[in-house]
Amino acid sequence: MAEEPEVPGAWAQKIMAVMAHPDDPDFSCGGTFAKWAAEGKEIIYVLFTSGDKGTSDPGMTPDRLAPIREQEERAAAKALGVKDVIFLGHPDGGVEDTAEGRGQVVKLIREFRPDILVTMDPFRRYTQHRDHRHAAIMAMDAVFPYARDRLSYPEHEQMGLEPHKVGEVFISGPEEPEFFIDVRDTFETKIDALMCHRSQVGEDRAGFAERLQGMSRRFNANLPEGYEPGKFEAFRKISYRQR
Ligand SMILES: [Zn+2]
Repeated sequence: MAEEPEVPGAWAQKIMAVMAHPDDPDFSCGGTFAKWAAEGKEIIYVLFTSGDKGTSDPGMTPDRLAPIREQEERAAAKALGVKDVIFLGHPDGGVEDTAEGRGQVVKLIREFRPDILVTMDPFRRYTQHRDHRHAAIMAMDAVFPYARDRLSYPEHEQMGLEPHKVGEVFISGPEEPEFFIDVRDTFETKIDALMCHRSQVGEDRAGFAERLQGMSRRFNANLPEGYEPGKFEAFRKISYRQR
């Protein structure tokens, strides 16, 4: 009898998402986080910025917008069953690939000790936000080799933190997906979470859900059997298990 293929992420218990802005994890794979949370996995978000440039309101300022967007993200995370959201306080539009930013992620990896880290695709050719690119590169570099090697960021050892080997990196919403996760059971929860980002998405829930489903149109022809158009999330995976 042929061996059943492993369900992506099934082996893991602790998940850490590392992305640039409030709403990035909910948009790109909130359905998967809701599914994992319902299965009892422990999930936290680490966001480089508080999204303080995300407005076209002429009366809004970054100082006023940041706490609004943090509040929206905390509500969205709660709707999905995500346990905690950590904001690293980098300026929106100003996320740079630095040793300091990477060190912040390394420290959180050594504290939380995730089995899987989820980030975005830093290598998309088009429609790529500079913050997404830099956040994803720092997240991937933090996993390998920095968090694994005790002589990287040795100050963490003095704080009592051990090195940590993350098992897999999931790249959410990549240009060329390797596999899809079926989120039809948590699709409405994902919309609930996204509607918490009121400053970004407005009030039209039905219109928004339709638009969201339309965004993944290009994959509909290649979906595994039984998948519903628009109710799936796309990934690639880098595995460090058994290495
Ligand atoms: Zn973003």
